Amino acid sequence: MRIDVLTLFPEMFDGVFGSSILGKARDKGLVSLSTVNFRDYANNKHNTVDDTPYGGGGGMVLKPEPIFAAVEDVVRQASEQESARDEESGTGKARVVLMCPQGEKFTQAKARELAAEEHLVFICGHYEGYDERIREHLVTDELSIGDYVLTGGELPAMVVIDAVVRLLPGVLGNEQSAVRDSFSDGLLEYPHYTRPPVFRGWKVPDMLLSGHHAEIEKWRRAQSLARTLARRPDLLESAELSDKERQWLASERARLSGEAPEPD
Ligand code: SAM
Repeated sequence: MRIDVLTLFPEMFDGVFGSSILGKARDKGLVSLSTVNFRDYANNKHNTVDDTPYGGGGGMVLKPEPIFAAVEDVVRQASEQESARDEESGTGKARVVLMCPQGEKFTQAKARELAAEEHLVFICGHYEGYDERIREHLVTDELSIGDYVLTGGELPAMVVIDAVVRLLPGVLGNEQSAVRDSFSDGLLEYPHYTRPPVFRGWKVPDMLLSGHHAEIEKWRRAQSLARTLARRPDLLESAELSDKERQWLASERARLSGEAPEPD
């Protein structure tokens, strides 16, 4: 996978792209991670990338020309590398992702979708916003990492890139497998424990020390369900559940709402 990030602050990515899982993925050649300062594409003598909004009001707005030129350049570079591809000008096969608080909320499902792509281009905004023509005519996706407003799109882009890259084949070892992570099967993950078996008087659940792997799997699934019900019941609407699990959930909901007696 190739990932290009358009930003006015490329230095912010140095630590994140060079460390931990992302750094290793890059070193192994599983992903190429590059930053592009779109100020380099400003076509005016002061390298200005923003301007005051038409109609007045506060804040500065990112101009369309440098961002269009930078995206088109990285797409052209990518298609030259993949010379077999027959690209026209424009964004070709790249997914061009605009980071913005007004976008679709980023989820694990979206991370999986993006992880299947070959080329991702992220645009990190700053200031008040973007010229609307960027949204309308350049990007394929608009993503928000949550209902709050950050200073710029750099941290949100890092969040999305981290979540996507860890899903690429070969990036995580078995010991860090993403298969059981929260949200991967629609539920929150079960609780984990490690040594010592008793810490300050708090014991690890007996089941985990029992050595019965099939029973441990059942216990973990039940813990996942109970935890999801307690913390994120909204996820249960779309999770894949067996009939038995649906029955358990119905009785648990009834018990919690006081409509059914507590079990003995
Ligand atoms: N005026 C804009 C609005 O109300 O939608 C907010 C602009 S914000 C100060 C500047 C930039 O930070 C945005 O263009 C976007 O790139 C990024 N940003 C801020 N919050 C974000 C979020 N929750 N998710 C994704 N990007 C965000």
